[in-house]
Amino acid sequence: MSALLSESVEQTVAVGRAIGAMTRPGEVIALIGELGAGKTQFVRGLAEALNIDPRKVSSPTFVLVHEYEGGLAPLVHIDAYRMRSPGELEELGFEELCQGAVTAVEWADRVLEAVGEDRLQVHLDHAGDQQRRLTFKLFGAWRDRESRLASTKCPICGRDAWPLLEAYPFCSIRCRQVDLGRWLGESYRVSRPIEQSDLEQGD
Ligand SMILES: [Zn+2]
Repeated sequence: MSALLSESVEQTVAVGRAIGAMTRPGEVIALIGELGAGKTQFVRGLAEALNIDPRKVSSPTFVLVHEYEGGLAPLVHIDAYRMRSPGELEELGFEELCQGAVTAVEWADRVLEAVGEDRLQVHLDHAGDQQRRLTFKLFGAWRDRESRLASTKCPICGRDAWPLLEAYPFCSIRCRQVDLGRWLGESYRVSRPIEQSDLEQGD
């Protein structure tokens, strides 16, 4: 699967929100990426989708688990940065924590075996100062959402366009505006009323 390019922190939050809207309670999202790659921003988006105040979400580095209640479903936010083996996640009571909640695991690559088979894996990589490259890997029950996560081609420029982004089916707001401009410029118009001048030209 190709990678989604997030242009800003706000866009990474928006992608998290779109993913949150298609996540069912009991499901797990495994976040993999270096420091500052946007994992916690992504979790803020998940919180928004669950109607939980995103400002409450902070990087849980010194506390292994944060649980946010009061939304459509509880959000369980786990940081595996300090875990040395999948066993540590099991000891935390991971399976019980996940039940009925949307669970996000940061630094999931350190404990992947314990995260389970039904997971959405999100890889976040630096692609510039603000830009981040997001890659999705679907496992188990998440596979039924493959088409909702896959990109199509932007009808204006042919680059990847993502259903997770606001500008869809275009790749960007810019291409959406180009499309709108064409409509306003009437270049898409197939027919118009016949005018006297048309008839005269045929003479
Ligand atoms: Zn485009």
